[in-house]
Amino acid sequence: MTNSSVAALQEIKSRIAVAAREAGREPRDVTLIAVTKTFGVDAIRPLLQSGHRDFGENRVQEAQSKWPALKAEYPDVRLHLIGPLQSNKVGDAVALFDAIHSIDRLKIAGAIKMAMVFQCRDLQLFVQVNTGEEPQKSGVVPADLSKVLDMCRKPEGWDLKIAGLMCIPPVEEEPAVHFAFLEKLAKEAGLKGLSMGMSGDYETAVAFGATHVRVGSAIFGAR
Ligand SMILES: *Cc1c(COP(=O)(O)O)cnc(C)c1O
Repeated sequence: MTNSSVAALQEIKSRIAVAAREAGREPRDVTLIAVTKTFGVDAIRPLLQSGHRDFGENRVQEAQSKWPALKAEYPDVRLHLIGPLQSNKVGDAVALFDAIHSIDRLKIAGAIKMAMVFQCRDLQLFVQVNTGEEPQKSGVVPADLSKVLDMCRKPEGWDLKIAGLMCIPPVEEEPAVHFAFLEKLAKEAGLKGLSMGMSGDYETAVAFGATHVRVGSAIFGAR
């Protein structure tokens, strides 16, 4: 069981490398984030022992129940928050995570900025884009993106360094369309980072320029 997740991770890494080379990219320019939500410390440990260091969680509270101890043991772990963030959890999130992929409104960007200053922390930040404009999904709608990015980045705004954009395509649609769209939006905004691609479509995402893929069930099995 434990060895199978390490084997799956290796397999995914080699598939990412193939997809990257086919797209004329360097495999090292793609970070594989192992998404550990709903999985416990015992499931995570073999990956840490195998040398993997990038992990993702979608809830602050759940992450707090497993990662402080693991990070004490493996200080070079990079923990990525990939789920929506509530204002009252920002301080905890900034203390524990090394990257936040889910900035979806200006208010949360401002709260992150203040928490980073207060805690002397510097996180890698992505703005989530609701590329499918789905009402139930968080993220900035494409029409508002440039305004939100401006306010995040301007010195007289939140003066934040934004690494890139993140999206979760609608389940029933062709992901490639959304990956291409996110890539275009990032290019227009002068952003290099692209957090896109999950278990079913990470190779497609790499073909469209993903710098961060977020893979859970293909490593750990069904949740
Ligand atoms: C759970 C989750 C993933 C991973 O999904 P899988 O289909 O299990 O690979 C990726 N991104 C986000 C935002 C998630 O919540």
